[in-house]
Amino acid sequence: MKIGIMGGTFDPIHLGHLLAAERVGEACSLDEVWLMPASIPPHKLHAPLASAEHRLEMVKRAADNNPRFRVMDYELVKGGTSYTVDTVTELMQLYPGTEFSYIMGADMIMYLPKWHRIGDLAKLVQFIGVARPGFVLRVDELEPMLQERITIVPMPQMDISSTDIRERIREGLSVRYLVSAPVLDYMEVNRLYET
Ligand code: ATP
Ligand code: MG
Repeated sequence: MKIGIMGGTFDPIHLGHLLAAERVGEACSLDEVWLMPASIPPHKLHAPLASAEHRLEMVKRAADNNPRFRVMDYELVKGGTSYTVDTVTELMQLYPGTEFSYIMGADMIMYLPKWHRIGDLAKLVQFIGVARPGFVLRVDELEPMLQERITIVPMPQMDISSTDIRERIREGLSVRYLVSAPVLDYMEVNRLYET
């Protein structure tokens, strides 16, 4: 089994996440792509705005009609700050015989050198990166040990971020076509990000 994990705050999950997951799943012939919301992301300055329950529910709705996507609530159930190296180590024990990779956008790829125990993590997984507008993706600037472990998959670049979506909602602006219809619906019904 080849499984790609896409971690994120998903506050909320948007079409940039979904297209990245889809294109990587296809290009790398992954059996499954796991969308895994973080409880408290190590690299973020602020706690997520929406609750873990709401973020998980939105990811479920977004993933619903895609046979390759699975929603992984492992880090949410664990709670607190999860480091990817620990999560992957634990998942490898829970799912023996599985080859895990870790999917991320350009911002996260360039931030990899700062990740907790990155040397250990790089021995466990391949990193799969996608370009993202507003962020340089210069794999050649990273150390060789990381370069070797990074695969870049092309995708139509989407200038969408959860930050921008939260801001638009707060200002009463439309986020239709930035998130999938079921997610838009869920945010409206639960009045997420309105204040
Ligand atoms: P925020 O603005 O709150 O940081 P975000 O849009 O960056 O939200 P995250 O949940 O932080 O979303 O990101 C999860 C993963 O998805 C990261 O690896 C990030 O690089 C990637 N990602 C997010 N948006 C895009 C996008 N538009 N194109 C490609 N990758 C993306
Ligand atoms: Mg982000």
